[in-house]
Amino acid sequence: MLNQLLPLIALAVVSPAAFSQPAGWNDPFPPHKVMDNFYYVGTKELASFLIVTPAGNILMNSDYEASVPVIKASVEKLGFKFSDIKILIAGHAHPDHVEGDALVKELTGAQVVVGRVDAPATRAFRPGGKEHPIDRLVDDGDTVTLGGSTLTAHIMPGHTKGCLAWSTNLKENGKTYYAFIECSLNMQAIRFVGNTDYPEIVDDFRATYKKARTFPVELWVSSHASFYGLAAKYEMLQKRGPGDPNPFVDPEGYKAHVDQFEKNFEAALALQQSGQGQGKGKGKQ
Ligand SMILES: [Zn+2]
Repeated sequence: MLNQLLPLIALAVVSPAAFSQPAGWNDPFPPHKVMDNFYYVGTKELASFLIVTPAGNILMNSDYEASVPVIKASVEKLGFKFSDIKILIAGHAHPDHVEGDALVKELTGAQVVVGRVDAPATRAFRPGGKEHPIDRLVDDGDTVTLGGSTLTAHIMPGHTKGCLAWSTNLKENGKTYYAFIECSLNMQAIRFVGNTDYPEIVDDFRATYKKARTFPVELWVSSHASFYGLAAKYEMLQKRGPGDPNPFVDPEGYKAHVDQFEKNFEAALALQQSGQGQGKGKGKQ
């Protein structure tokens, strides 16, 4: 038994990063236009978006530091320059969305914009000991504007204390759509009962599911590709003919997603309250 465990223990000591990056998450995914000047440049599971403007580009989510070369290749494959990224914004303080901030800053000189509430947790991610760059702090309702594009921050606490969703307007065929870039409603592996790091977590999650239904969402995406069914929607996008709807315009899918994640949360909470299914003090995704 010990012989079987030893390689695992050795791996854990030598390479803790291998355990924090689930297999396949960093694999490349075809970059594509979602709508208007809004492009997907993330990995197979970690969603990153490029907002292209005449004054330079905005990148949302640097993901793991190891994801940055994958994102850079995607940006270039679309015909844009990585060095044209002027602003880097984020959703929330988990390593799979912000660990690469320092490397993106180093490669582009972009202004790094972080939510004020999640800033202390964000600062703690220092791959290779690098200081985590933060150039501007934003609060609920604050906007980021570049070259005629404006994104508005919406605080959606629960998954992290300062989880930020972003909204913007995108145009297609003469119509303007309310686009919503969700933060994360995910409750997996999070401790709700007796979470001394975050005592108000249950109230925050419940308020966030309510708030999630108040946005006039037409087009939506999220921080993880699987949350918004990217693989299936991308396939529909490939087959899209003239006059076919944009698969990312999916208000019903958004409502069903909020309902499902709220149901999952209440079930996990009930399980923890019954003394089973203990989550961790801090979520990992
Ligand atoms: Zn997360």
